[in-house]
Amino acid sequence: MIVINENFLKLRAGYLFPEIGRRVRAFKQEHPGAKVISMGIGDVTQPLAPAVIEAMHRAVDEMGRQETFRGYDDSGVGYEFLRQAILENDFGTRGVSLDLDEVFVSDGTKSDTGNMQEIFGIENVVAVADPVYPVYVDTNVMAGRTGPAGQGGQFAGIVYMPATAANGFVPAPPEGPVDMIYLCFPNNPTGTVATKADLARWVEYARRQKAVIFFDAAYEAYIKDSALPHSIYEIPGAKDVAIEFRSCSKTAGFTGVRCAYTVVPKQLKAYTRDGKAVDVNPIWRRRHTTKFNGVSYITQAGAAAVYSPQGKQQIQQTIDLYLANASLIRDRLTQRGYVVYGGVNAPYIWVQTPGGLGSWEFFDLLLKKANVVCTPGAGFGPSGEGYVRLTAFGLPQNVREALDRLARL
Ligand code: PLP
Repeated sequence: MIVINENFLKLRAGYLFPEIGRRVRAFKQEHPGAKVISMGIGDVTQPLAPAVIEAMHRAVDEMGRQETFRGYDDSGVGYEFLRQAILENDFGTRGVSLDLDEVFVSDGTKSDTGNMQEIFGIENVVAVADPVYPVYVDTNVMAGRTGPAGQGGQFAGIVYMPATAANGFVPAPPEGPVDMIYLCFPNNPTGTVATKADLARWVEYARRQKAVIFFDAAYEAYIKDSALPHSIYEIPGAKDVAIEFRSCSKTAGFTGVRCAYTVVPKQLKAYTRDGKAVDVNPIWRRRHTTKFNGVSYITQAGAAAVYSPQGKQQIQQTIDLYLANASLIRDRLTQRGYVVYGGVNAPYIWVQTPGGLGSWEFFDLLLKKANVVCTPGAGFGPSGEGYVRLTAFGLPQNVREALDRLARL
């Protein structure tokens, strides 16, 4: 008899986005003429930068010629031309020096943040913020690192750290020990950012507890404030305790192309049960080169063009367009008396629901009365109740139209 991995049965069947989709479909069926505008799902809308397209076209041509054809990437961790561009542009410019073999190119931060837990022991205690990007939790549930979900949907065995208006949506380290800490800044869903002092507290905690921080910086490109850290490695001592995840998805519109990378510093250690220190970098290399097939040459050529002078300028224009959307959403909602967070140095706006409405109640109201789709904050965790998330990734004309409708509510 084939036995199923019962950990998968602990996951709730009705996941947030399918439920949103179900409600929107039902509404459209009842109101076929309604023009529904989505400010919900966090996908980008602007096309790839011309520099990226040109680089990908050139790479396709190279693949079609005998002399320049490429098969498997022997390194298994990404072409040196891309990893070199990453080191120089994403870290060198911030005063962080890394080695080429600390960078692992991949197909996404979702996969990397989901897979990374696999190389750490099953008994590790996981800490996440509440609300949280669901992948961190669900992959630990699948691995068997939790008990079943309780009433509020939270899993036994996970330490949830409330991110609320009271703590500026940046949780402080817990009182007790935890081992695997997921941090995400700029944050999805709250759109808030962490200062150097915030991250320094976490690095200090992780060093003291011999814990590891999984630092998801998928939205790093949206940071405009020069005082804010872009990388956790800007904090002294972080290389001993932190893994950082970056993605071209929201930086350069690669959600449909797929390219990201993860940094695993060589000095990062984990421990055997009897306390012997082990290097994490070669273990992740072993896992990555065994289970992951690599990113296509064409995609990596496109990703490297993100770092060319033209590429940088072009992707910045797109980021600025999204940030202008974010700022418009913030301003217009604030004028209408809404309490809003995020949306500065981040593409997400976290809106307190008016009149004490629940997240899903407000979702239904916006859908029915304004034909606008948002994401109910409660779907990201109990502390998200009473909020909805709006994204700035829409087309500017749609964002303006959605805001006009909200103003008429
Ligand atoms: N991490 C966070 C916090 C996200 O919000 C998302 C996408 O929405 C991802 C990772 C996924 O990134 P990628 O497209 O690189 O898999």
